[in-house]
Amino acid sequence: MRMKKCNSTRQEVKIDDSMDFIRYGVGMLASLLLTALLMAPEQPNFVLVMVDDLGWQDTSLPLHEAPTPFNARYWTPHLEQLARNGMAFTNAYAAGPVCTPTRTSLMTGQSPGRTHITYWTLRQGQDTSRPHPTLKAPEWQLNGLKGDEDTLPALLEDGGYQTIHVGKAHFGAHDTPAADPLNLGFHRNIAGHASGAPASFYGKHDFSRAGRTGKEGPGIWDVPGLDAYHGQDIYLTEALTEEALKEIDLSVEEDKPFFLHFAPYAVHTPIMPNPRHLDRYTDRDPKEAAYATMIQSYDEALGAILDRLEHHGIQDNTIVIFTSDNGGLSAHARGGKPHLHNAPLRSGKGSAYEGGIRVPTVIHWPGRTEPGTRSDAVIVTYDLFPTILAAAGVSTPDGKTLDGHDLSSILSGEIPDREEDRIIGWNQPHQWGASGPGIEPFTSIRQGAWKLIYFHAGPRFELYDLEHDLGETIDLAESNPDRVRAMAEVMTQWINETGAQLSRDLETGQPIQTPAEAAGS
Ligand code: CA
Repeated sequence: MRMKKCNSTRQEVKIDDSMDFIRYGVGMLASLLLTALLMAPEQPNFVLVMVDDLGWQDTSLPLHEAPTPFNARYWTPHLEQLARNGMAFTNAYAAGPVCTPTRTSLMTGQSPGRTHITYWTLRQGQDTSRPHPTLKAPEWQLNGLKGDEDTLPALLEDGGYQTIHVGKAHFGAHDTPAADPLNLGFHRNIAGHASGAPASFYGKHDFSRAGRTGKEGPGIWDVPGLDAYHGQDIYLTEALTEEALKEIDLSVEEDKPFFLHFAPYAVHTPIMPNPRHLDRYTDRDPKEAAYATMIQSYDEALGAILDRLEHHGIQDNTIVIFTSDNGGLSAHARGGKPHLHNAPLRSGKGSAYEGGIRVPTVIHWPGRTEPGTRSDAVIVTYDLFPTILAAAGVSTPDGKTLDGHDLSSILSGEIPDREEDRIIGWNQPHQWGASGPGIEPFTSIRQGAWKLIYFHAGPRFELYDLEHDLGETIDLAESNPDRVRAMAEVMTQWINETGAQLSRDLETGQPIQTPAEAAGS
């Protein structure tokens, strides 16, 4: 526990009789305790639902200016309900286009550019970046978190919270401390480890490779800790929901405020249908029908959690946050044409374009968010760190650098002045596994309506006006060189301030030019 300094003033108390002195002391103590009890606001509970690979359009809740065909394709009534009670964000971003960078940014409150956790992790010491013809990755934190950070759950734990992780973790590589959420400040860990996908979504497969394929022995993607469900006709998201509900019950029983990080492995690959929901989607490609059942399953989980809060009568003291760790998968493994599953956004998971990073986000903060409101404020995963700490009344350690902004006033319906010029940066100096539009090493910034992408190969710039061209169809870099130069300067400042690393030249091993150098500014 961190100790806080406090300045007290001494009072001289002249009491001759020692019994009077004791009575006086007890009386003072009782009165101080009563005052403290009356003054201390009740700490809210938190439910943070972090769906995996959930795209901006993977919901029946419209987040574009008008409903889209995708909104009609999916069925998420409970997310719609959450939005009716809270605030839906139309410009919410994941901190990175793949899993580990975003998940660790939630834990640290820092951008992946700063932590150097710029890509997904698996085995200790393994660089999962794919080869690129002219570039190579810088020396990044290829084991993910180290385990000694002031993480969000660790700070909440210090602040008196029960901290619970359920589902996919993916915070650090196997055989390193951060592989286990218990080493990151979580009291409880259900089914979380270093791997970022399940071998199977089926209890009948024991959620394992052996169960799914018949191959002998354990697999690195086998989901741990769910033995009680092995052999059962249960879908992974359903088993995780059962566990989350039990944890809520326990916390209520213990009368402790809780932080529940509910991270269903869905809708990440392998795309496997939840057979209970298939009837609704018989009219479409089997792969897309399976995907739609995965979406409906996360929504059912959300509904069950909201019901349980109500059952315990704690819904008015529980802040519910729903988000995703990157854009929707569209480059492979899906039905239909690739790269179009997040339309009107361009491309998908792994990409510098909006389809890779823009995610559904809804927050219900009872008593603060006006029911049924929408915000177009530009927000990003690591904003949740200071927002949650502020709501919990837990302070950030002295000297810790935070990239996130406390969203409290935005959630009250105000946009603070400082948000107008906010710069958000993304940095992925890695080649992802699949190929497609914008899937290559890049750094990008968003400033107001403008987005500048610095593709490291070349290097070259692309410039988009997201207000008028959300789909990033018209590259304005050539016609607007002044803005490119100005924003390249801003991007370089962001790189210098955060320490974000650029790709290296494959032959020389040297970092590529800074954006300012490349723009000739
Ligand atoms: Ca993901």
